[in-house]
Amino acid sequence: MPECLFCKIAAGELDTELVYEDEEVVAFNDLNPQAPIHVLVIPRKHIATLNDLEPADAGLVGRLYLAATTLARKKGVDDSGYRTLMNCNADGGQTVFHLHLHLLGGRRMGWPPG
Ligand code: AMP
Ligand code: ZN
Repeated sequence: MPECLFCKIAAGELDTELVYEDEEVVAFNDLNPQAPIHVLVIPRKHIATLNDLEPADAGLVGRLYLAATTLARKKGVDDSGYRTLMNCNADGGQTVFHLHLHLLGGRRMGWPPG
């Protein structure tokens, strides 16, 4: 997906600093953080939305969560707590159409979400 912003970040084509990377997953700080810790964890593979996941992606989704928990530990919020979420399409608030897991921490989260 040559025009996809997050594909470009995953390919290292932009200046974005990666805070985590492995063969299938990369993570970077959100440009417009909503909490003291706000990291986006994404697959290198282009998947537009949660609706586009296929059974073969099940392991990849697990890897996104394992990367997020690794980062939460590294940032010292594993015990205090954090939130992970994926927005899907308009009502979910999705604005970038490359799957991404938000990792938010460092403050108390509200519920229900806005
Ligand atoms: P969503 O609204 O769930 O699609 O989340 C997209 C997120 O991507 C938002 O929190 C944006 O602040 C973030 N974002 C957009 N462009 C960039 C970028 N170039 N680098 C880092 N984060 C970005
Ligand atoms: Zn993409």
